[in-house]
Amino acid sequence: MKNTVAILEKPGKMVMKETDLPTVKDDEVLIKVGYVGICGSDVHGFQFGPYIPPKDPNQTIGLGHEVAGVIEKVGKNVINLKAGDRVCIEPGVPCYKCEFCMEGFYNVCPDVDFMATQPNYKGALTNYLAHPADMTYHLPDNMSLVEGALVEPAAVGIHAAEMAGDLLGKKVVILGSGCIGLMTVQSAKLMGAAEIVVIDVLQNRLDKAIELGATATFDGRDEKIVEKVKEIIGEYGADVVFETAGAIPTAKMALQLVKRRGKVMVVGTIPGDTPIDFLKINREVSIQTVFRYANDYKKTIDLISKKRSYF
Ligand SMILES: [Zn+2]
Ligand SMILES: [Zn+2]
Repeated sequence: MKNTVAILEKPGKMVMKETDLPTVKDDEVLIKVGYVGICGSDVHGFQFGPYIPPKDPNQTIGLGHEVAGVIEKVGKNVINLKAGDRVCIEPGVPCYKCEFCMEGFYNVCPDVDFMATQPNYKGALTNYLAHPADMTYHLPDNMSLVEGALVEPAAVGIHAAEMAGDLLGKKVVILGSGCIGLMTVQSAKLMGAAEIVVIDVLQNRLDKAIELGATATFDGRDEKIVEKVKEIIGEYGADVVFETAGAIPTAKMALQLVKRRGKVMVVGTIPGDTPIDFLKINREVSIQTVFRYANDYKKTIDLISKKRSYF
């Protein structure tokens, strides 16, 4: 049996390559890929190449990391999974040895091997994929493979909302209503935020945000946006602002909307330098970056399976 892998030949061009099936190590499973979600980072990678270009110019680059499928076979040490199981995977394989891994924060492991990025640029756009069993999660019977592929971005939203701390009764603004923004809306709602104001420039995304739990939405191009949002959340601003758009204008807007002693959660990947006037936020505002997720898959799968939110 052969494998087919989609490879990014150059920005804007992907080609299909026939390869051997991946070898399955003793602690790995071989997955027949069912669905792959296309992340903003994949779109960026397709158009311009990966955010972090490979050191070796001959490195094969794959795309895709939001994946669910069915196990084809398991390595000889794998006892918790078997052929035929429907699964999704955490696409980052950490080293399990460094101080971050040992403390459980394996998402920031300096040696994490994350799909479609360094060091191996292994993509999920393939028919068959070998992956460590301990980063492979069984899907409950009531979850589809499409939902399985969406566990990855949902875990990003859950992780961002968790890192913001206690959201019960809090006033929250979410900048950006793409996939990650919408996952954050649902996570903030689950955690009991009283007000969830969402800002984007696309009306269909804002409509979706309302459907998923936003209490108000605004078009980000409105020149009076800050005043209008503060009419809803109060003159001092939001307890927590989530930046999920990954853009410099929204990063600056986050600083205008956050309350004294409030938090700005930087979830999006913001390219380049963002000017910050610290004098304007020197009333004990916290700026917290958020990176992927750690220890969030099981709860994310449970929340989807128990229909605690739409996801
Ligand atoms: Zn993603
Ligand atoms: Zn590590």
